[in-house]
Amino acid sequence: MKILPDVALTYDDVLLVPQYSNVASRKKLPTQTKLTAKIALQIPIVSANMDTVTESEMAIAMAREGGIGIIHRFMSVAEQSQQIARVKKAESFVVRDPITLTVTHTIGDAKRIVQETGSGGILIVDARERLVGIVTTRDLLFENDEQKPVTEIMRREVVSAPPDTTMKEAEKILHDHRIEKVPLIDSDRHVVGLITLKDIMKTEQFPSATKDARGRLAVGAAVGVREKELERVESVLAAGADCLVVDIAHGDSELEIEMIRNIRRHFPSAQIIGGNVATAEGTRRLMDAGADAVKVGVGPGSICITRIVAGAGVPQLSAVIECAAAARAAGIPIIADGGIKNSGDVVKALAAGASAVMVGSLLAGTDESPGLMMTRNGHRYKVARGMASAQANVARKGREGEGWITQEEIDEYVSEGVEAAVPYRGRAKEVLTQLVGGVQSGMSYSGAHSLEELSETAIFVRMSPTGLRESMPHDVEVL
Ligand code: IMP
Repeated sequence: MKILPDVALTYDDVLLVPQYSNVASRKKLPTQTKLTAKIALQIPIVSANMDTVTESEMAIAMAREGGIGIIHRFMSVAEQSQQIARVKKAESFVVRDPITLTVTHTIGDAKRIVQETGSGGILIVDARERLVGIVTTRDLLFENDEQKPVTEIMRREVVSAPPDTTMKEAEKILHDHRIEKVPLIDSDRHVVGLITLKDIMKTEQFPSATKDARGRLAVGAAVGVREKELERVESVLAAGADCLVVDIAHGDSELEIEMIRNIRRHFPSAQIIGGNVATAEGTRRLMDAGADAVKVGVGPGSICITRIVAGAGVPQLSAVIECAAAARAAGIPIIADGGIKNSGDVVKALAAGASAVMVGSLLAGTDESPGLMMTRNGHRYKVARGMASAQANVARKGREGEGWITQEEIDEYVSEGVEAAVPYRGRAKEVLTQLVGGVQSGMSYSGAHSLEELSETAIFVRMSPTGLRESMPHDVEVL
């Protein structure tokens, strides 16, 4: 047995000492950061891989705002891959599998397709799949003869572009020809994509969005540590996942290390986030195994009871400081996972050396999280539950197709999480706006012009419980 001499601290134990600042406008302070060396974020926020937090809808919202969402793994490989694919399709200025009809189709077929898909134009190809024309909704408008071949009304002069056309080039083509769609074709006139004005406009609506090299929204996927999970890895990567979170509560373990090594071996270019750890040694072990980023947090989560059940964990601020110090020289980013209650906690985590924070229950209350809203005493709530809670375990067994779970199994399961009601918080964007605004304000109080500078210049001061009391509204009745 050994007892460490220092008291470990968490977010509420400290404040950032205000320092001289020449920041003129905190709203303009940049909040760019790195999730891994290859994935840049415009805001340092990641939504947690929990089944009450991140599925495709949340991941789309996160990426649009410049963060990223990690789709949880408590679903079949096929379902998780579909979720990833949904994010990838949400916003891309190039449609990679545009709808086509062949020269043998009729106007009736074209009308049906338009109605079913909401598509404004259909490309017409010949028997060898080469582009021969285009039919738009306008062309179909006054055509009542459903049996007439599409070839009779299609326009044969189609303005097209090569497969690698950039967004800027496409914009110019659309503008110069006053058209709304430009098909991408290869040298044999095979259709390989379609760029539409509508998709370009959607892209421009979210200028800070986190995107992959093909202009699609970025998204991560959680995977387990068992060897058979390599199938999941292969499938989610094929669906377009930009990073993998190798998800296990006690990440400083042989199982985690083996899985990271295995993924590295089979999928050398995969971006791997390992975790969770709470020590410098644990961080080093995951980096040595091949992790591109390390997630820190044992026990700080809002729905977590690991510290009560297992008596294990490290208060989160100290854990982040220690792990970030171990990772800094190698340039490996740290993600502070769990325990974020407000924007002040995000600032403290970043000042402690984290590159980003992972947020669970704060986002579980938003429209984009999975799950239903409920009303209690006139207030609206959604549910957040720990992935190691009894409720999540029952749901997992059900989803795995075992159907029934016996009373014995329920009694034997030692949960390390709880299920909880969290206040409804509106759109995820609103929560993110508050968190990011708080981060910029915190940077300004530390005189920092970037998040990197914040972690260099920040000075923490410890406070007493009365200091914490003083930090909150006090001796008034908040309305
Ligand atoms: P929150 O932001 O404080 O709600 O913390 C979210 C984090 O809690 C997740 O990203 C996980 O790391 C962690 N977590 C999720 N489920 C459990 C659980 O059942 N037990 C312990 N920790 C959990």
